[in-house]
Amino acid sequence: MKISPPDYILSIKPYVPGKPIEELEREYGISGSIKLASNENPLGPSPLALAAIEKALSGLHRYPDGSGYYLVSKLAQKLGVAPESIVLGNGSDDIIGMLTRALLLPGDEVIMTDPSFAMYDITTCMVNARSVYVPLIDRALPLDTVAGAVTSKTKMVFLTNPNNPTGTVFSGKAFERFLEAVPSDVVIVVDEAYIEFVQDPECARAFDFLDNSRPLVALRTFSKAYGLAGIRVGYGVMPPYLAAILNRIRQPFNVNSLAQVAAIAALDDEAFLKQTLAVVHDGLAWLYAELEKMGLRCFPSQANFFLVDVKKDAAAVFEEMLKQGVIIRSMVSYGYPSYIRVTVGLPEENARFVAALKAVLK
Ligand SMILES: *Cc1c(COP(=O)(O)O)cnc(C)c1O
Repeated sequence: MKISPPDYILSIKPYVPGKPIEELEREYGISGSIKLASNENPLGPSPLALAAIEKALSGLHRYPDGSGYYLVSKLAQKLGVAPESIVLGNGSDDIIGMLTRALLLPGDEVIMTDPSFAMYDITTCMVNARSVYVPLIDRALPLDTVAGAVTSKTKMVFLTNPNNPTGTVFSGKAFERFLEAVPSDVVIVVDEAYIEFVQDPECARAFDFLDNSRPLVALRTFSKAYGLAGIRVGYGVMPPYLAAILNRIRQPFNVNSLAQVAAIAALDDEAFLKQTLAVVHDGLAWLYAELEKMGLRCFPSQANFFLVDVKKDAAAVFEEMLKQGVIIRSMVSYGYPSYIRVTVGLPEENARFVAALKAVLK
């Protein structure tokens, strides 16, 4: 018997996950390929997190702590915020979904940029609300234009800082102006998945603007700088009344027990974070210099990835790079037909990427 889901569910464009590396290698008859496509940490997971996971394995017959007590306490202490203002998620994706499910009614408008992170639109459509797109200007998030797009139907705004896939940031001053321009009942979500990598001292930090006067949410994740993408843990910081609303619909055991101990240990792993930032910042500088020598335009990035204009069909370049065993991301579907996005890797991976790109563009 066929069922008919609501139209607004059928209208969701399914997220297309990348194929597993092993499968790609089999298809293309290659081996030893490198993945510079998903902005993951090239150093692997935090070693302290790994040790904590091993220690916790024997407790897997127990349910996780549904309140995430120790992780929340540690975050609250580290960030200087009240524990009541923190919501943990099975990755920050989970929090994005909780926000749209808990706060939106059918027909409400949600502003996001074009292009932007796929989960904003998917979770908006999931509750029959409407995505309103504001195009990026020169690859950057135009805060004034976003503020101008707010109408009486606007319930939520998603901002990504640094932005994915462009690596641009907006300043604290610009964000302050934005907050003054937007009505104080609009939920503003600032996704700071890459904030640890930022070098620009002017970059806005949503934490500096959190207070109880408006529903402002800062999203953070352990997936990138802490190298824990596979175990799924992120968090949102927001006014406690809003956190209490999300906690009503949060799955009670949304953050598994290994993720909780891993995140706690990773927060203490300052050496790993420092090494990660050094690898990314040195790698960015080296890659920019090498690609510039090839006459290619790279766009400055405050994250652990950057865009390159390869001046050819990026989908074709992606395919050819794959045959060389280097997985990058084509930006065709993001509206940049000749751009690729490259995640900074280890020095030897970066060198391999440059050599492969030379061979492909020759
Ligand atoms: C990688 C990324 C995230 C992190 O998502 P998790 O669910 O925490 O792994 C969030 N937002 C953006 C824009 C990202 O690129």
